[in-house]
Amino acid sequence: MCAVNTVNAQHSHHKPALLGSVLHNKCSRCRRGDLFVGHNPYNLKTFMQMNEHCPVCGQRFEIEPGFWYGTGFVSYALSVAVCVATFIAWKVLIGFSLDDNRLFWWMGLNGLLLVVIQPVLMRLSRTIWLNFFVRYDPLAAPIV
Ligand SMILES: [Zn+2]
Repeated sequence: MCAVNTVNAQHSHHKPALLGSVLHNKCSRCRRGDLFVGHNPYNLKTFMQMNEHCPVCGQRFEIEPGFWYGTGFVSYALSVAVCVATFIAWKVLIGFSLDDNRLFWWMGLNGLLLVVIQPVLMRLSRTIWLNFFVRYDPLAAPIV
């Protein structure tokens, strides 16, 4: 009995990191349950299928009808952040000039990158959006 209690105490004190739980699309309340049914964002038939409730703590993910519409703002911000990051990286590594087509190469490749990483961004946006409204609760995860 005593040994079990010690294990429980360790488990409940372990707080999964915010960044890791967001990047792995975990429930924002317990940071353990998966938001999405599948793990592969590039399985394009199922990549946006979500669990209705957190499989670990039971948190409902779509907390009100139309809740995910706000995800668009997050998705937009993430896309802009990617553009800024690639722009800076391109400027540092390759540079821009008015005498050649380097600017247009950046625009084309940046656009292509945005399309390719879109499934990841869409899933990430939902996780971030949920984190705005559902806070971490150390007591949410059931002690096993
Ligand atoms: Zn949960």
